[in-house]
Amino acid sequence: MDWEARIRANLATVQARIVAACARSGRKPTEVTVVAVSKTHPPAVVRAAAACGLRVFGENRVQEARAKIPECPGALRWHLIGHLQTNKVRDAVALFEMIQSVDSLRLAEEIQRRAEQAGRRVPVLLEVNVAGEASKFGYAPERLLAELPDLNALPRLEIQGLMTVPPWAADPERVRPWFRQLRDLRTACEDRLGAPLPHLSMGMSGDFEIAIEEGATMVRLGTILFGPRAPVTRSIGSGTEHSPD
Ligand SMILES: *Cc1c(COP(=O)(O)O)cnc(C)c1O
Repeated sequence: MDWEARIRANLATVQARIVAACARSGRKPTEVTVVAVSKTHPPAVVRAAAACGLRVFGENRVQEARAKIPECPGALRWHLIGHLQTNKVRDAVALFEMIQSVDSLRLAEEIQRRAEQAGRRVPVLLEVNVAGEASKFGYAPERLLAELPDLNALPRLEIQGLMTVPPWAADPERVRPWFRQLRDLRTACEDRLGAPLPHLSMGMSGDFEIAIEEGATMVRLGTILFGPRAPVTRSIGSGTEHSPD
């Protein structure tokens, strides 16, 4: 298969749809970053995507990323979008520019420790489980607000915003209230911190236009760019592959 031609065509469609969603909501397309979700795809596919101009890539498993990233072009920026276990934090800090899936103070404290050892600051997003789904990771909104001061006190973490994987729905309009809720929670967090949180990472292949209309600054796109992934047996059937790593 000619991956580059396929990705180039898919990306053109995606970009046109981003432009249209921005036009509908009075936003600028430059405010929206595509995070190309390359999980399960080999380095050759990442190289083809990079040749099409994609620069930011999302992976959900540290182990997979550790094997893949060294085989990919050096200029790419990698974001961790899946649950992170504390025993994988050291590798995650070495591999990823941003960790989008911070979901507990304990994890944040381990990132602080490893970032200090590595001599870097780590941009992070706080993952929110907006609907309280038992199958998903992420903060309950009230708990996030309660822990925010402690999270913010960790000097090696740069809290840049919120991320969510809302409940799946066949009709993406039904997901809109969850996106809106994440945006409102961002405002509440900004009030509590007295500082801006620039990023909202929300929207996947099936609902990214709605997410953009509701303020997404990062959309995490896999299937619409690369086609369907091979079935993953460890999938939990919620439309995401948050899995034990
Ligand atoms: C896999 C994954 C995506 C991409 O999903 P698609 O529907 O293929 O676009 C986005 N976010 C997270 C957290 C994921 O695990």
